[in-house]
Parts: sequence; C-alpha cells; structure tokens
Amino acid sequence: MEEIPVKVAVRIRPLLCKEILHNHQVCVRVIPNTQQIIIGRDRVFTFDFVFGKNSTQDEVYNTCIKPLVLSLIEGYNVTVFAYGQTGSGKTYTIGGGHVASVVEGQKGIIPRAIQEIFQNISENPSTDFKIKVSYIEVYKEDLRDLLELETSMKDLHIREDEKGNTVIVGAKECQVESADEVMSLLEMGNAARHTGTTQMNEHSSRSHAIFTISICQVEKNTEAAEDGSWCSRRHIVSKFHFVDLAGSERVMKTGNTGERFKESIQINSGLLALGNVISALGDPRRKSSHIPYRDAKITRLLKDSLGGSAKTVMITCVSPSSLNFDESLNSLKYANRARNIRNKPILNFSPESDRMDEMEFEIKLLREALQSQQASSMSQTSQIHREETPDNRILFLEEQVAQLQGECLGYQNCIEEAFTLLVELKDAVRLNQKQQHKLQEWFNMTQEVRKSILTSFRGSRGIGNLEEGPQHITVIQLKRELKKCQCALAADEVVFNKKELEVKELKNQVQMMVQENKEHVLSLKEAQKVNRLQNEKIIEQQLLLDQMSEELTKLNLSMTSSAKETCGDGPDARIPEKRPYTVPFDTRLGHYICIPARSDARKVKSEH
Ligand code: ADP
Ligand code: MG
Repeated sequence: MEEIPVKVAVRIRPLLCKEILHNHQVCVRVIPNTQQIIIGRDRVFTFDFVFGKNSTQDEVYNTCIKPLVLSLIEGYNVTVFAYGQTGSGKTYTIGGGHVASVVEGQKGIIPRAIQEIFQNISENPSTDFKIKVSYIEVYKEDLRDLLELETSMKDLHIREDEKGNTVIVGAKECQVESADEVMSLLEMGNAARHTGTTQMNEHSSRSHAIFTISICQVEKNTEAAEDGSWCSRRHIVSKFHFVDLAGSERVMKTGNTGERFKESIQINSGLLALGNVISALGDPRRKSSHIPYRDAKITRLLKDSLGGSAKTVMITCVSPSSLNFDESLNSLKYANRARNIRNKPILNFSPESDRMDEMEFEIKLLREALQSQQASSMSQTSQIHREETPDNRILFLEEQVAQLQGECLGYQNCIEEAFTLLVELKDAVRLNQKQQHKLQEWFNMTQEVRKSILTSFRGSRGIGNLEEGPQHITVIQLKRELKKCQCALAADEVVFNKKELEVKELKNQVQMMVQENKEHVLSLKEAQKVNRLQNEKIIEQQLLLDQMSEELTKLNLSMTSSAKETCGDGPDARIPEKRPYTVPFDTRLGHYICIPARSDARKVKSEH
C-alpha cells in the first residue's frame, strides 16, 4: 500500500477594512514564484501550496480540491480541513457560511465541489450513483446533528466500521438527487451551527463542523458478460469530509467572558488534542506508536484523515496582521509539522478485490460441478464394476493403463501420418534397392504393430471397438481430477477449521478488550468530570476576582473622595501629599487596612 503525505496549503487572507483603518502592519508574505512563506523578518516556511492575499477562491479550489474530487469518484475517502486562528478565513475558504447569499466568485470549496461531483455524475451514465449528505458539529465536546436538531447528543456515537473507518452512528444521512438539494441542506446546517460574535470575528464559529458527502457507485449492466462468464457488479462507496474547525484563540484577545470563555476553553482543548495528534504523527523521531486520537471528539473523527486511509488536504489560514504574529507563527509551525504525516489511501473498490470475488464465485461453481460429477461417476463406477470392491490398487492400475493407452493412441496417430507420407514418398522419390528394402521392412513392422494394438484393445475391452478408448480415458482422467479436488477440499477444510479457531480466539480477545475499554471509558469520564468541575471553579474564581477587583476600585475611589472631603485643604490635614497606596476603610475592624499594590491585581483590571 502506497504511503502519501498529507498535502498542506497555507492561505493568507488580505487585511480587513477595519484592520486597514487601524493601520495594522502586514507581517506574513508569500515569496513570489515559490511555495514559501516568510513571517516576520526572516522565518521562512515551505508548503505544498501557498496562497497570498490576492488568491481567488477558484485558484484555491482548482489547485487543492479538484484532485480530491477526482479521487473521491475513483473510490478514495478524502478530507479537506481548515485550520487557523479565529478570523483567519477558514469558513470563508471552506465555504461554510451563508452560501445562498454569496456571489459566484466568492463561493468557497464546498459549493464548488458539490457542483463538480454532480457534473461528474451527469457525464457518467453507465453508473448508478447514490449520494448522501450528513452534517455534524462538535460543540463543547458534544456531537450535534445539524440536519436533525432534535436528535439527542446521546444518540450520536463515534464508532469504527468493519473496515476500520470512523463512522458516526445515529447521524442523519439525507439522500439527495441534485446539487441544489445539497446546497439547501448545507445552508440549513450552517444556520443551525453555533456561531457568536467575538472581538476577533463578528461571526466566529464556536464549533468544529464536518460536512460529509457519501457517494455509492454501482456499475450498470455488468451482471452477465457477453461471453457468459460471471462478472461481479462494482460497488464503490467513498466519502468527502469538509471540516471547518473552530478557530484557535487567545482568551485575552477575544475578550471572552462567561459562556464564551467556557467555549474558548473547550475549543482550545480540542485543538490542543489535534495539535498533539499532528505532532505525534508528524514527528519523524517518534518512538511510540501511540497516537492520542481518543483525547478529543474532533481527533477521533479525523482519525482516518490523519495517518489513516484517506487522502487529505489541510488548509491553514493565517491573518497577515502583525498584531496576530504569534498566532500566525504557531499556525505555520503546526502546518509545517503536518507535512510529515503520511496516509495510506485505499481504494474502497479495487480490481484485485473484484477479481477475488469473481474467483470465489468460480470456485463455488466448480465445487458444485465437482459434487454433481462425483455423484454421477459414483453411479457409473458402480455399474461398471458391480462385482469389484473399490480397491485403490486397481484404481491406480486403471489409471496407469489409461495413461499408457493415451500415449499409445498418440504414437498411433504419428505412425499413421508417417505411413501415408512414406507411401507418397515411395512413389515420388527414387530409392536404391537397399533403401527400398529398409522401407518395406518398416511397412511390415508397422502393419504388425497396428494389428497387435487392435487385438490388445479387443482383448482388454472385450468389445472390439477402438473408438471407446478415449471415452474411457476421459472418465479415468476425470476421476483422477476428482481425487485431487477432494484432497484440496480436505486441505481447505483443515484450513477453515484452523481459521475458525483463530476467529474464536480473536473474538474472545476483542471481548476482553471491549471490557477493558469500558473500564477505561468510565475512569476517563470520571477524570473529565473532575476536570470540568475544576475548570468551572477556575472560571468562577476568575469572575469573583474580577468582581472583587472592581469593587476594590470603586471603594478606593469613594475613599479617596471622602478623605478629600473630610480633610479639605486646611492646615491640620495630616494626609501626605502623595500616598503610596489607596487605603480602604474596613468597617468591621474599625481601622485602615493596608493593601499592597500587587502587580497581578492590576493585570486582571487591565483586561477590561
Ligand atoms: P474564521 O472562520 O477563520 O474564523 P472567517 O472565514 O469567518 O474566519 O473570516 C473572517 C473575515 O475575513 C470574514 O469577514 C471574511 O469574509 C474575511 N475573509 C477571510 N478570508 C478572506 C479572503 N481570502 N479574502 C477576503 N476576505 C476574507
Ligand atoms: Mg469560522
């Protein structure tokens, strides 16, 4: 199986109007005529494809996605996923926004791919196509069906099918007939997707979204080939996943609080898990084979696409603004690591497997033929040798005789031909006496041999008909083949029994592993619960801290003003000109308490 690397593209979006207004500087550029990007003054990265600020949606589609659509039709599972900071252009590039209101040239990857898939279908009348669509989002580590919002999260499960492909059990799959139908489902799902306004992006996607198109292709009219040989109907099922990840973000920059803050933590932990998977797969010095796919839902869902059997393109989106330098550099580092990931794409249909199916069918037919032949030859044998017992020795001798008779017939034919030829030559060529004598001797000898063969046949068959020979030989040859086949069948049975035992053992092992897995899941859930509680506590404490610092500020202000009022400007006022601290009055203690000016307390204040 051929290994191919995950293809990595980087797209730099242009500065947005508000960024231009605020005089943001550009810190990421494409080096012209190369596939390289320079960030800052001297950090250069090379990728499979790079797209600068003037790149069009068409260019991105034709370069990165068109080949994926072709692979999809060939029978490969394919994935494109967009990675990057919030507001860097992922949803714009993938085309997962409000698609209906977008002008043609601005349409992203999904609408373009849908159009191309349906065009392929219309150009291929010899194949039956069945298209299904599903749309899922991962919001705060829960799966949501964007095409069936009533479906409870508990009814959606990530599982592996018998071929090892990741599937979402319980997700609605809508069968579609046209590109328009797919577009309206996409629009419907987009509307249901969790988005929100952050300081970084007005329509920030708060979830990871996976839009999937499954294609089932069945070749028409291949059930019976013209020559009558059996031919299987090709069956190809392949999938295209379009993944729009939620953006990585720095909580400080987005200015998120409350629910948004919690969302940010979940988004970042999912992306952290994805980063760990990319690092583990992309590390050439990797020692352990463990890839932490199970750390997050999104990594479990992308398992086939990262280090699995699909063909994958990762599009990393970056903002050009120097204010986002750190995030852009981080994204480029991830993208660079992802270039080391190798997948082993497999055709969901392969000519070899088709041939295997055919051969299996042929074997089945042969077995049936053999069985009926066996039955008929058994009855024949019992007729011919009614008095004989089936003795192996006799059978063996019979076989030998048949073989010799076969050889004999072959020689006889040669001699017959030589005889006629020599008769012709005798008349046409002048021979000396010695030669004539020799030839006559040969004729005599041949005549004698022919006679003796005839008598031996008459004797052995007792019927006196030479033409029966070949039939007898055929029966015996068939018997011999039958015996061989019986032996092969017995050997097959032994192998089958062995395999059955192995399967039993494997089943036991699987059961044990499932049991272990259940235990692990339980402990994992508990750990996650504890983790969640801790996170919530941190958030509460953070909020409390904010509240306290606010109150403290207010108190300080009121204290300062009241102090001023009471003290006035009179000569008795004993307040120093410049006090190092603002001292609130504690009513319970009845005296001034001194609060040192802590640097971290100021930090919290400055975030607002
Ligand atoms: P993300 O999904 O990464 O959070 P969006 O795709 O929502 O970011 O993009 C943020 C903003 O930038 C949107 O207003 C979008 O129209 C704009 N934008 C992104 N990429 C481009 C681009 N290549 N050309 C023009 N505008 C873009
Ligand atoms: Mg988005």
